[in-house]
Amino acid sequence: MLDINKIRADFPILKREVNGKPLVYFDNAATSQTPQVVIDAIVDYYSNYNSNIHRGVHTLSQEATDAYEVARKKVQAHFNAKHDYEMILTAGTTHAINIVATGFTQFVTKGDEIIVSALEHHSNIVPWQMLCERTGAELKVIPMNEEGSLQMDVYETLVSKKTKLVFMNHVSNALGTVNPIDFVIKKAHAVGAAVLIDGAQATPHMKPDVQALDVDFYVASAHKLCGPTGVGLLYGKEEWLNKLPPYQGGGDMIDQVTFEKTTYAGLPFKFEAGTPNICGGIAFGVALDYMNSIGFENIATYEKELLDYATNALKQIEGLRIYGEADEKTAVISFNVGTIHPYDIGTIVDKLGIAVRTGHHCAQPIMNFYNIPGTVRASFAFYNTKDEIDIFVEAVKRAVMMLS
Ligand SMILES: *Cc1c(COP(=O)(O)O)cnc(C)c1O
Repeated sequence: MLDINKIRADFPILKREVNGKPLVYFDNAATSQTPQVVIDAIVDYYSNYNSNIHRGVHTLSQEATDAYEVARKKVQAHFNAKHDYEMILTAGTTHAINIVATGFTQFVTKGDEIIVSALEHHSNIVPWQMLCERTGAELKVIPMNEEGSLQMDVYETLVSKKTKLVFMNHVSNALGTVNPIDFVIKKAHAVGAAVLIDGAQATPHMKPDVQALDVDFYVASAHKLCGPTGVGLLYGKEEWLNKLPPYQGGGDMIDQVTFEKTTYAGLPFKFEAGTPNICGGIAFGVALDYMNSIGFENIATYEKELLDYATNALKQIEGLRIYGEADEKTAVISFNVGTIHPYDIGTIVDKLGIAVRTGHHCAQPIMNFYNIPGTVRASFAFYNTKDEIDIFVEAVKRAVMMLS
């Protein structure tokens, strides 16, 4: 059982007020809040050993390098990768996806197919469209159904010898649907296709094992799991990372440079050109330690309780429709009430101190499927409470009264 009061005390921001009311933070799917241990790690870095890494002989540089490489090992352990050099520290999920999408340019040609799902975040659609434009490959989309799940029978018909890559998020950020990635990976591998899984939305709620999944690439962002913004992960199997060309040229990613020819550094540095987000990487490791100290099983159990409680309470509101009712989903509720614009509900509940997201959630194809401009999205984390849900449900009722 989680001691929620103790956990809440770890997050200084949860003590603040917004518009004269205690903050209720339900926008965790956009970014999570930051515990004091992570803030302390950031302050410690800049107060005590701020320095550039990997090329200094002086003490500060060595301390910073050691801390950064310790963080990489923490990330490796967390995701159970075989080697630490398979963990590329990136600026985030979007950056990680672009490294792979750009790198694949030389591996796909006209006549090849790339499969994505209808539940994707824009950052997992646009880079593949750009890849298709560059190469003449064709983008195929696994359709979704009314409850917000993917049509896996259609996926089976789409996968063929022409398929070179399959891209899917582990969990949909707009609806919370958990996708059957085990099945997706097996089917893709059976035809020799590679799979990239976008874990940005799954990693705050579960602990993926990249070796057990046998996934080729897995990407995530630290800021959605209690870490800072501007840092994230590209996991790639060693064979793939060796095959892919570097994404950016610059310092740190080279072996030898002459004007005639430059040779690249080995993994992971080949993909880490320039000075990385050193402090962010170190803080990412601390954030993973913190989440593991709470325990992902505890987090999942508690968040399911919050999800069920909020779902039941919201459903009592007349005219309220929840989008995304898959059996397996994370603690995300997307909804609308009648024809009220989601933005109007979001604005009124903000006046009452509640942070939710409104709009298309970077997933316009899903909104088009439901024929709506957007939704109100409440997304919970392990530091939220049922009391906060009560406050939120009352606020939505008030908004509906004012707006209808
Ligand atoms: C947040 C999110 C992204 C983008 O992450 P960035 O940190 O902005 O790069 C991509 N995919 C999903 C599913 C997300 O939730």
